[in-house]
Amino acid sequence: MTLLSLESVTARHGLLTAVPEMSLKIAEGETLALVGANGAGKSTLLRTIAGAHPAAGGRILLDGTDITARPAHERVALGLALVPEGRRLFPGMTVAENLAVAARRAREGPWSLTRVYDTFTVLAGLRDRRASELSGGQQQLTAIARALLTNPRLLLIDEVSLGLSPVAVDAVYETLTTLDSRPTLLLVEQDLSRALDVAGRVICLLEGRIALSAATGDVTREQVTEAYFGLR
Ligand code: ATP
Repeated sequence: MTLLSLESVTARHGLLTAVPEMSLKIAEGETLALVGANGAGKSTLLRTIAGAHPAAGGRILLDGTDITARPAHERVALGLALVPEGRRLFPGMTVAENLAVAARRAREGPWSLTRVYDTFTVLAGLRDRRASELSGGQQQLTAIARALLTNPRLLLIDEVSLGLSPVAVDAVYETLTTLDSRPTLLLVEQDLSRALDVAGRVICLLEGRIALSAATGDVTREQVTEAYFGLR
């Protein structure tokens, strides 16, 4: 079943068209990796889906409902959650306070504060730590936990591993891939090997357009790299 459908979605920054007329379907339950060079339009696309950036054209449908004109908080209520680039936690607030804010706006679903602390045991030990005092990996886990608490049907994560140590990246992916009640996932991942490892499908963006879309089992790393650099 199609969960998210983009129909000729365009996103602009002033005069620059970052994403021209993108059409894309995401099926319920799939893990999709979005890759592409700096400036390819990955963040703009995620932010447009989440309602953090306006669509300049086209339609965004979530489970058949047109959400193109809905503000971000309504999209959260309908099951879309974004872990933005840079995490955007409240730095002066503790882990518990950051999570409590999300829990207040949660949809009905499997994720509760108790479940989050049972799953993210590291965070249980850091409950009273300010977000600004966490390591990058701990911040990323907190941001993912915060998004899960809204009980999303589709979880969008921008730059999963950017700025994290290899150990932290392993920890984040270990958590993501072993979650019970895992939502449908759209991940932006700079590390191609990692993207091909965790996702069922990979999409490579080049200047806002889909240069390649394939099941990860059907493409080689070399083919994705060629698409990345516009060589195919
Ligand atoms: P990165 O990996 O660097 O975040 P990206 O693939 O996420 O890259 P975007 O950040 O979506 O790409 O950028 C797409 C295009 O839009 C780029 O040409 C970028 O310079 C431009 N752009 C992004 N944000 C803005 C902004 N706030 N104002 C103007 N132009 C922007």
